[in-house]
Amino acid sequence: MAAGQSACPTGRSVRIFEKSEGHVRPSLAIGITPPSLEILRTLGLDVELIQQGVFIDRVMVHGQTGLLGVCDFSKLEGAYRFVLSIPQHVVMKVLHQNLLKYPGASISYGTEVKALTQDASQVTVTVSGAQDDVVTCRHMVACDGSRGRIREMLHIRSHGGSYGCHFIMADIPDTRAWTGRRTCFSPQMARWSRFLSLET
Ligand SMILES: Cc1cc2nc3c(=O)[nH]c(=O)nc-3n(C[C@H](O)[C@H](O)[C@H](O)COP(=O)(O)OP(=O)(O)OC[C@H]3O[C@@H](n4cnc5c(N)ncnc54)[C@H](O)[C@@H]3O)c2cc1C
Repeated sequence: MAAGQSACPTGRSVRIFEKSEGHVRPSLAIGITPPSLEILRTLGLDVELIQQGVFIDRVMVHGQTGLLGVCDFSKLEGAYRFVLSIPQHVVMKVLHQNLLKYPGASISYGTEVKALTQDASQVTVTVSGAQDDVVTCRHMVACDGSRGRIREMLHIRSHGGSYGCHFIMADIPDTRAWTGRRTCFSPQMARWSRFLSLET
């Protein structure tokens, strides 16, 4: 959605196809990193998102023997010296509302890109959703994620792999008595080895 709307101020007509049914998604990240905040600034959305998130400028990692290390983002160069922790659905909502400001932009949820062909002048995209459709456009940007099939359709080689470990992420309110912002990595929590606070 961010890539789509970065083209909108130039007056281009943009259509976004998303196979999931809506923009309410579970979180896919601990936080928005400084380079991503720079991109969101170009869309005029950084301030709004920062107001709704929790900024993490220092991460302390504790092991069974005590403090293992500290990662201090406040020493970074640039405008954003923190990682912004914010639920994915909030980011998606802000991006969606911003997209609606542009008359030439639209997003179709529940619509999957099934096939595409291209020649020197245009791309022809077959989508299936509520109704199957064939759309032509000058340029197409595929942002279908690591499991997306579009690079396969385009015969682009990829060298993907697996880290061999699994993560479970959840957005939960922090009801403990701690104050301040924090991200906690805890080996004592065995399989549930990461806990992220979103509320102070
Ligand atoms: C445990 C974990 C923690 C992470 N933490 C961070 C973090 O703190 N900060 C950070 O920046 N990144 C983090 N990441 C990485 C981050 O989640 C990914 O980089 C990011 O989700 C990639 O975004 P994307 O839009 O490229 O792909 P995705 O988020 O995978 O989105 C792809 C979208 O395309 C849609 N789609 C797929 N195929 C089609 C199709 N054929 N037609 C239509 N729609 C389609 C999907 O439904 C989906 O909505 C983390 C990842 C993991 C696994």
